[in-house]
Amino acid sequence: MIIHLKSTVTAHEANQLAETLKAFHVQSDGVQILITGSGIKELPSTLADKADNYWVFPNDIQLASKKYRSEKRTVDLGNVKIGGATHNTVLIGGPCSVESEEQIRTSAQLLTSLGLTTLRGGCYKPRTSPYSFQGLGLEGLKLLAKMREEFGLKVITEARDATHIQEIIDYTDIIQVGAKAMYDQGILRACAKTDKPVLIKRGFGTTLQEFVQAAEFVMSGGNMNVVLCERGLRTFETGTRFTLDLCGVAWLQEYTNLPIILDPSHAMGYAYGVPALARACVAMGIDGLLIEAHPDPKVAKSDASQQLDHEQFKALYQSLKPVAESVGYKIV
Ligand code: PEP
Ligand code: MN
Repeated sequence: MIIHLKSTVTAHEANQLAETLKAFHVQSDGVQILITGSGIKELPSTLADKADNYWVFPNDIQLASKKYRSEKRTVDLGNVKIGGATHNTVLIGGPCSVESEEQIRTSAQLLTSLGLTTLRGGCYKPRTSPYSFQGLGLEGLKLLAKMREEFGLKVITEARDATHIQEIIDYTDIIQVGAKAMYDQGILRACAKTDKPVLIKRGFGTTLQEFVQAAEFVMSGGNMNVVLCERGLRTFETGTRFTLDLCGVAWLQEYTNLPIILDPSHAMGYAYGVPALARACVAMGIDGLLIEAHPDPKVAKSDASQQLDHEQFKALYQSLKPVAESVGYKIV
């Protein structure tokens, strides 16, 4: 249950009420909000004269639900807004991993030349083998921050565990919680304590309900700046790396109020399929795309097979524009 308290209730009183009820207390848009589990179906009697409004839910998709808030939430990055009523499809591009200053600068130049705003690059890579390239860590974060400074771009990078969340907050603009990391309660709880935007990727064996509940972990701690990212599921098929769940995207659009970004690069696993898939994604009217591009994919230190080269990325960008326009969106 979500309860909005009357404006006469102070933050301190709301906090005390939350403690007694074992509820979460957050303040959002100037409103004191209490959140209990969805098992509570009746307004607690102690709140009878303190509640302004309340919502009952069939499950624990609450703050992220359309039932609670029908308008899509907006994540404001300053130079660009994701979600809300903007009808922006934010094309986030860049390499799988930050590998060197030259490589990430070439990527930043590519985005800038197209008028795009947001650069991706992993620094703490969650690899399936300990012998693979693990990312440049703090050195990579500093390179991203340098590009942010030089080009005025926003930067996004992924958290592998909770120990470096503060560094990511300090050096970047969006915390990416990867498909393998989205079950990590340490990461989710750390993301809840900041107001930094958080992009949560769906695990490849994660139901939609579990996926949105990961977002609820962040939101119930007070950080409403959450974006969901579909990046493919593991199915019986081995011809492609994963299977992009566009049905799931339709479901998220119907039942949640969160901006939705799609990542066809990781879903496909091979560069040849990425442009067509990206166009299919954009045709759904989505808030953003995450596309891996590398100045020279064949020498990439991670995910080499799926990264577009820069000519392919430029061609993709041009081909996305009319598709976005046809559904009332704009690639930014
Ligand atoms: C990535 O974005 O490079 C990445 C590792 O993605 P995922 O968590 O979706 O596998
Ligand atoms: Mn990758």
